[in-house]
Amino acid sequence: THFGFQTVKESEKADKVYEVFEEVAQSYDKMNDAMSFGIHRLWKDIFVDRLAPSKPCKILDVAGGTGDIAFRIAKYLRNSDGGGITVCDINQAMLDVGRKRASELGFSGMEWLQGNAECLSSIADNTYDSYTIAFGIRNVTHIDKALKEAYRVLKPGGQFMCLEFSQVQNENLRWLYDQYSFQAIPVMGQLIAGQWKAYQYLVESIRQFPNQEEFAGMIERAGFAFVRHENLTFGVVAIHCGHKL
Ligand code: SAM
Repeated sequence: THFGFQTVKESEKADKVYEVFEEVAQSYDKMNDAMSFGIHRLWKDIFVDRLAPSKPCKILDVAGGTGDIAFRIAKYLRNSDGGGITVCDINQAMLDVGRKRASELGFSGMEWLQGNAECLSSIADNTYDSYTIAFGIRNVTHIDKALKEAYRVLKPGGQFMCLEFSQVQNENLRWLYDQYSFQAIPVMGQLIAGQWKAYQYLVESIRQFPNQEEFAGMIERAGFAFVRHENLTFGVVAIHCGHKL
């Protein structure tokens, strides 16, 4: 493609993703606000509201990056130190930013774990009540492996919840959204973060991700039951959830 990323081989995808988040870690939070006009905050609030965690619980936030979901979960639970919440991410630079934010917010009890969603080898089977992943799964090379790992680390009765970009349902709106994302986002990435290519990758990865129904099918094939999804902002993003019986 003219973005040059569709030709990235599977074996190179993980390196590419690592590089991208290494580059954007410092500007990541600022860019999210700029690109989504702050709407990502609402999506994340709704996501945690749908998760509706209740104490006592153990929650794993995978691809947790700079901690946006984990902090919201702690606030929702009125859990003043964030104990019981683990943030896992493959990228140490993202985790470092998150850890710094956590100490500024007083969440001293959160666990920060460097690890790959496809192979959570340091986590035992049946450990967590909830597994969350927000804007992370489209970056994973083998989505089926990540879903199997989610299933493995959840306790029976545990809940899988995913927030991810999806397919805008209305064709006219989809056209408008495509114009915005292909034309404006790399420009904003360059102006705000000095990162044209990294933001081209982000747009491209959104386009390549399976649509709502396809992704729901993948979650079912990993073993989850009662799989449902909810579109937010006309399907710009969707929340998928499923249960381990
Ligand atoms: N969840 C956070 C949020 O909503 O703000 C961060 C999302 S950020 C767009 C995607 C994150 O996924 C990055 O921090 C990246 O390092 C992480 N990531 C990419 N591939 C991963 C993998 N295989 N395992 C774990 N994390 C991964």
